[in-house]
Formats: sequence, structure tokens, C-alpha cells
Amino acid sequence: MSESLGAKLQQPVVGRLAIIGCGLIGSSLARVSRRKSIAAEIVVADASAQVCARARELGFADRVDEDAVAAAKDADLTILCVPVGANAAIAEKIGPHLKQGSILSDVGSVKGAVATAIAPFVPAGVNLIPAHPVAGTEQSGPDAGFATLFLNRWCILTPPTDVDQAALDTLAAFWTAAGSNVETMSAEHHDLVLAITSHVPHLIAYNIVGTAADLEEVTQSEVIKFSAGGFRDFTRIAASDPTMWRDVFLNNKEAVLEILGRFAEDLSALQRMIRWGDGDGLFTLFTRTRNIRRSIIELGQETAAPDFGRHQGDDQ
Ligand code: NAP
Repeated sequence: MSESLGAKLQQPVVGRLAIIGCGLIGSSLARVSRRKSIAAEIVVADASAQVCARARELGFADRVDEDAVAAAKDADLTILCVPVGANAAIAEKIGPHLKQGSILSDVGSVKGAVATAIAPFVPAGVNLIPAHPVAGTEQSGPDAGFATLFLNRWCILTPPTDVDQAALDTLAAFWTAAGSNVETMSAEHHDLVLAITSHVPHLIAYNIVGTAADLEEVTQSEVIKFSAGGFRDFTRIAASDPTMWRDVFLNNKEAVLEILGRFAEDLSALQRMIRWGDGDGLFTLFTRTRNIRRSIIELGQETAAPDFGRHQGDDQ
């Protein structure tokens, strides 16, 4: 599997690309779009003057604007790269100014609730196609982004049933050019799949790190000193952006609660195995879970490296 982004495109996939929100995901999209000439023009907007100033210094866009309307106006593809809870207010602001025939998309980690919140502000003739790149790190902000973030990672598109096929093909071509493998599914299915593969694992990490922080019998310095025993790997996930993750749980409530119910049942079964000394039961489960990790590595979604393959090298 290639680890390189490959050559620039002969022809851009879109004319003007507007990226609203210039953090980890937005700045990575701008970087890869520039590196591979995926868009003829890249315009970036962020509500924060500080983020805009930094984006200008980093130089991955043709224009940086604090005003989302100015950025989205005349864009052929507008992608919202802000925390899930901020999407609707931006859509309301930019909606009336979006170009006829253009595409409005997002990168939010939750799809159902977000699409419902944005849809009322999308004028007829503008194609709303939500998307979620299943790629990221625990870092935030424009300095955290890098051009290869989406390389060999999945990007899930959750188009409405009456989607315009040409618009869907353009968005799929955009993400393919960014290095992603593209899959299409319903927003509802996406939210259930991501609840088990991403949202609940984050909740478990937040919970275990919180429990350790509250323990009285074991000191904080002992927790930190002996963290290599497994705790350390949870702390990476539990260091993820609080705003982003608050919004994920508030917007994917049903699927997360459904998976948490199943998780609690399985945890009770594990408790029982420990209490009754069921070593065979524990061994069988741990063997099954080890095989899942092997499959993930075989599919190229992880490396066997001890740093989990998350070093960014010089590819900023
Ligand atoms: P981030 O690094 O925190 O960047 C978000 C940026 O959006 C920040 O610069 C923020 O500015 C800005 N912003 C917030 N409200 C805004 C508004 N109303 N108008 C314009 N800009 C605004 O977050 P991220 O990790 O890139 O996440 C962005 C989206 O990607 C989220 O919806 C998340 O669910 C999704 N996602 C994240 C990951 C991941 O691993 N991080 C993976 C896949 C998808 P301030 O800092 O000033 O608030």
C-alpha cells in the first residue's frame, strides 16, 4: 500500500474550495488540496482571528477570511470543518449566499443529527452531501494538520436518497484525490457503526482516565509513573478536544446509549468470569479480541509500531 500522496492532478476536481473552520481537519484538507492541486482555488475561513492569522502564516490557502459568508460565496464546494454543534448556525449564515449547483458538505463525526440541523438552511439547487473522514489525531488547531492525514483512511459519505449523482461523484472524486477510500451509507447506519468504533471507545477512555484521577488510594504521581501498564494508551484518546467530543455525544445520543447498554452487559459477564475464576472464558475472549487487532493491521488501518503509527514525520 502506497504511503505517498502521489503526483498533482492534471486537472482540479473543483474550482473554488471553501473550508470553514481551520483546525486539524480543515487545515489538513487545505494542505492536501494544495499539495495535489485538487482545487483551483482554496479559501479558508475561521471565526478566530488568531487561527486566521496562523493560517495565513502557514500559507496553505489562497485566501483566509474571518467571514464564512465571504469564503463560501462563489465556492463550488464548501466544507464545514467545525465542531458538530456549530454546523447549523454556520449553515444558516452562509445558506442564502451559496452558489446554485454547488456542493455543501461537512466532516462531522456524527451524521444524522447534523444533516437534519443543516438541511433547513440549504437552498434548492445546492447539493447537501454530508461526509465523515475516519481519520484524525488527538491534536487540534491549524498547526496540527498534515497533508497525509486522509491517506488510506476511509471517508464515509451519507448522501440523501434523492442526491444528484454528478454532485456525489464530484465529492467522491475530491476525497479520493485526498487519498481516502470512499464508502457510502445511510446517516443512521454511520452513527451506529461509529458509536462502536469511535464514540464509545472515547467515552471509555475519558471514563478510565477520570476514574484514575479521582482515586484516593493510588496517588496521581503513581498513576503517571506506572502508566506504561496500559493506562498511557487511554490517555492519548482522553486528551482529544473537549468541544468536539461534547458535541459528538450530545448529537449521537441514541446510538451511543444503545452500544453502551451492550457494553455494560458484556462488562457484567466479564465481572462474573473473574469472580468465578472462569479462566477459559477470559482466555477465549482475549484470543478473539487479539484477532480483531490483527485484522485491523492487515487491512492497513493501523501499523504494528508501538507508537500506533501516528508519527507525522516531516509531512506537515
Ligand atoms: P479543531 O482542530 O478544534 O478545529 C475546529 C476549528 O473550527 C477551530 O479553529 C475553531 O475555532 C473553528 N470554529 C469553531 N466554531 C466556528 C464557527 N462558528 N465559524 C468558523 N470557525 C469555527 O477541530 P477538528 O478536529 O478539526 O474537528 C472539526 C470537525 O471534524 C468536527 O466536527 C469533528 O467532529 C470532525 N472530525 C474530527 C476528527 C478528529 O480526529 N479530530 C476526525 C474526523 C472528523 P476556535 O478554536 O476559535 O473555536
